[in-house]
Amino acid sequence: MKYSPFCWLIATLGALLVPTSTPRLAAAEPATASEGKLRIICFGAHPDDCELQAGGVAAMWAAKGHKVKFVSVTNGDIGHWRDAGGPLALRRKAEVEAAAKILGIATEVLDIHDGELLPTVENRREITRLIREWKADMVLGPRPNDYHPDHRYTGVLVQDAAYMVTVPFFCPDVPHLKSNPVFLYYPDSFQKPNPFRPEVAVSIDSVIEKKLDALGVIVSQFAEGGANGSADSLPADPEKQKLRHQEVRDGFAKRNQSVADRFRAKLEEGYGEDRAAKIKYAEAFEICEYGRRPDKAELARLFPFFAD
Ligand SMILES: [Zn+2]
Repeated sequence: MKYSPFCWLIATLGALLVPTSTPRLAAAEPATASEGKLRIICFGAHPDDCELQAGGVAAMWAAKGHKVKFVSVTNGDIGHWRDAGGPLALRRKAEVEAAAKILGIATEVLDIHDGELLPTVENRREITRLIREWKADMVLGPRPNDYHPDHRYTGVLVQDAAYMVTVPFFCPDVPHLKSNPVFLYYPDSFQKPNPFRPEVAVSIDSVIEKKLDALGVIVSQFAEGGANGSADSLPADPEKQKLRHQEVRDGFAKRNQSVADRFRAKLEEGYGEDRAAKIKYAEAFEICEYGRRPDKAELARLFPFFAD
């Protein structure tokens, strides 16, 4: 496979300006009263990371009326072999908005240059505000030991916010959270300093087509190959294009299958041995040591899928 399993963005170009603030490319959807529904916010470094890691479970939460928001912490403006800058950022924003529509969730892209994310106090405030504004019960993000600096610092920023969201005089412009959310990590394959250890694995068989549809509209990154693609990635010929889109779809189906295979033992804990054996596609998450630590009963309330 030409593209890497986590992200299609390998930063190779410098962008022009470091913004002095982090204006958002999309207006935030205001949080509303929860009415017994869960509120989940997922962070990814680039406009495709959340969709890859949590697109399935997000669609399942949304189908039950829970509120899910994806945030891309950078604008993805160097994530293509041919295009860069503002026009690419706008294209990628439009792609994740189309994906969000398919999944039934909200989405936002922060206007920070791709490949330049740093764990600054300003960015810590921004992530803290976003979690508070969403009134999150649960926060998902990458682990901070990843090959890509933007992924790594997204992980650090979310960790740095994990306690600060509850501190009244940090960012007093947005009311602090009275209850600390549960923080969870996406899976990865990095072994050092410690491997990913899932605490929950969810079957996404019921929504796999929806997830594949959502990934399918992120054309700049997948069919066109993102930063490591070329003019050959998506040929001009319509028949060959069709084949390419199918190839991308099949690749992602396989990838979600490998998650189910890798974490089959964890699926058995949630679904029992017989049902787990039949699960084809899955997503898995590890609970962060920071934030609220849910017990088994709360975990079942946060992931209300095991009896479906
Ligand atoms: Zn990424």
